[in-house]
Amino acid sequence: MMIDASLTKDVIFTPPPTPNGGLHVGHIAGPYLRADINTKLRKTLGETAAHLSHIDNYQTYVAKKAIELGLETDAFRHEMIGLIDKDFQRFNIDFDLKIDNTEDSYRRFLTNCLAELFRDSHAVCRFEFIGADKRHSATEAYVSGTCPHCLQWAFANVCENCGMPLEIQQMIRPIEELTGATTFTQQDSDGVPNAISINRNDIEWIREQYRNIAIDNRFITRMLTKLSEHYVVLTLRSDYGFKISDGRVINPWVEIFFAHIYSLGRLLEVEPNGTIQDIRRALQINRNIRVSYYFGVDNSYYYCVLFLLLAKIMNLPNVIPIALKANRFLTLNHRKMSSSKNNVIWARDIAGKFPVNILRASLMASCPEYSEIDFDKGFLEDRIPLQIPLSDAQSIFNRPLTEVGKRFRLTLIELSDPRNFSIEELLNKINKVTEFFESKRATAIETEELRHMVDYLFIQLNFKVTRHY
Ligand SMILES: [Zn+2]
Repeated sequence: MMIDASLTKDVIFTPPPTPNGGLHVGHIAGPYLRADINTKLRKTLGETAAHLSHIDNYQTYVAKKAIELGLETDAFRHEMIGLIDKDFQRFNIDFDLKIDNTEDSYRRFLTNCLAELFRDSHAVCRFEFIGADKRHSATEAYVSGTCPHCLQWAFANVCENCGMPLEIQQMIRPIEELTGATTFTQQDSDGVPNAISINRNDIEWIREQYRNIAIDNRFITRMLTKLSEHYVVLTLRSDYGFKISDGRVINPWVEIFFAHIYSLGRLLEVEPNGTIQDIRRALQINRNIRVSYYFGVDNSYYYCVLFLLLAKIMNLPNVIPIALKANRFLTLNHRKMSSSKNNVIWARDIAGKFPVNILRASLMASCPEYSEIDFDKGFLEDRIPLQIPLSDAQSIFNRPLTEVGKRFRLTLIELSDPRNFSIEELLNKINKVTEFFESKRATAIETEELRHMVDYLFIQLNFKVTRHY
């Protein structure tokens, strides 16, 4: 996608899905659908926006799952990537750019970025812990235990429930996942930086950035209030991941940050072999780039703390986001969706059975933007065909003639700014405008114009709702 340097451009990132399984409806209803609708709404209104993501190829959970299933990791990973791509297509979730973070050009870029990061004073060599399996550091997918802050059963490094950093020595009764071992021994550093030290000044700096970032989830504000100086994993012992040295790989979340930056560079037409310096230059030319992140609250620490600090360390000031959009979770039968407990609806299981506009509308109705919401399958039974809009619907939508039509368009423009965007608010606006044009309050001309505008919007965003939302 070519973009004009003079326009404001919204770059909307979503977390790369981990190729250890297909997507369930909770994945789709969270960051992906919100980002997709936000991007499409922005484009429909003539603004420039791009939705970027990729695949989380280096995550320790991929190898762990393949081992559990007795499969060869790479073959399993490729199969899962195929499944994920298809799931996105089935729900009409579009990406303007998806980089391949296994390509050589990207791997070179990452190696050079990491060399720069390792020279920074935040990258430190610390002791680390190992359990019975000497190949793996006792962190991430390899160790679980109880979080002392919130009592969630969590994996090490960061608690997915309360978002707090969680080192193994803080965990209550940690267990090594693959061996069941409960004793861990402290090892000296092997000389490769293995932790990022986040000190009091860094936390103060992050708090300062928050004054200019739109945050619509109190979870993030609360997490930041509680945060104090800490360490987070930079590299770990593992035989799976992006290799740094023998038996040692980069924390997959640090890799995700650089993959996002590389994608941004590609969007700004930096060559595949471009360096971080080329991206810095491109960002200086394209000063009106605005970054927003959509993610599930369980990833808050990375998007709200680590990525901000990495942007500072790597001297990428305009990568500090304008909006941090964290969603809660879609539940099923009022319980967390979980494949191991057989409480899950896979995307592939309902796609094809229902028209895509109904699938999207039903997930929008259950979108867990601000609180957990139970998936209401009732909406799937709606059979509302999309209206084919008039051939001039686009020009009616772009240049409404009535005062209410103009007003409706203006409120949509305001809402499409990622800092303001919300699915709930969009559904409310459509609901209210429909009530208006179907009532005696509207003149015949207004009714005609607004009806075409709404029909055009439904086609562009590919969903259709009736007013029971
Ligand atoms: Zn916790």
